[in-house]
Amino acid sequence: VSVGCDNACTFCIVPLVRGPQRSRPLGEILAEVQGLARSGVLEVTLLGQNVNTYGRDLTVPDSPRKPQFASLLRAVDGVDGIRRIRFTSPHPHDFTPDVIEAMAECESVCEHIHFPLQSGSDRILRLMRRSYRSARYLEWLRRIREAIPEIGVTTDVIVGFPGETEEDFRATLRVVEEAGFDAAYTFQYSPRPGTVAAGFDEQVPKEVVQDRFDRLLELQEGISLEKSRAWEGQVVEVLVEGEGKKGGVQGRTRTNRVVNFQGPGSPGEFVPVRVVRGHPHHLTGQPVGAAVGA
Ligand code: SF4
Repeated sequence: VSVGCDNACTFCIVPLVRGPQRSRPLGEILAEVQGLARSGVLEVTLLGQNVNTYGRDLTVPDSPRKPQFASLLRAVDGVDGIRRIRFTSPHPHDFTPDVIEAMAECESVCEHIHFPLQSGSDRILRLMRRSYRSARYLEWLRRIREAIPEIGVTTDVIVGFPGETEEDFRATLRVVEEAGFDAAYTFQYSPRPGTVAAGFDEQVPKEVVQDRFDRLLELQEGISLEKSRAWEGQVVEVLVEGEGKKGGVQGRTRTNRVVNFQGPGSPGEFVPVRVVRGHPHHLTGQPVGAAVGA
């Protein structure tokens, strides 16, 4: 729905290679989604480098208002046949109450959000030029969960950003623990030529980065497992995507959990599945009803 980005995170190459944000007109996106729905598509992902600032660069003829990301969610939710809407990636700084309302009210918008943290240290967030701080990040997460209690939350975290001290890293561990992410994509910082951070002096030694990365991974694996176990016994709606790695069927819940089960189900069918076991990165279950096509 948009390309480019108006932010200037010091580790990121996007503003250099993609330039400022350019959004597609809302009508054009809607026409594409309607066409996809007519051809049998059930799920769409609205993609933008900073997806929740969608529309800020657009003007609407004869109107002082600009299209907003919340309006886009509501418009796509109105398309017959689309059962699941996802979006990625929102920037925590640009998250607004109208988006939370739209997520809570639109039936097709899935109960999942990818909400990039990057660091739990305010000092490092400042060096990264991420324009939120850890307290504000956690406050937004609290509000999102209050509006959508069952929501699955995933994140990105960078370890070993230049100048990151043990204290900074511990701040990240604390925020990760408090946030209770379902899953985190963790990255070891590596300088991208051309970015501001690549020129920073205090690059963290590789072995220190590796050690912090391992500790963060261990913490998150434990949290992910705990979150997965909380699903045991519950019945979830699985949209089948294909064969599982170990045979059987694999699909995904609305909360973006991968589910493996033995039983009926072809790609594009919805199957009610009781979760039998939670693993850190997926759930296993048993179907409790017939597979239903769209
Ligand atoms: Fe933009 Fe995301 Fe890159 Fe920051 S990390 S500059 S918000 S694309």
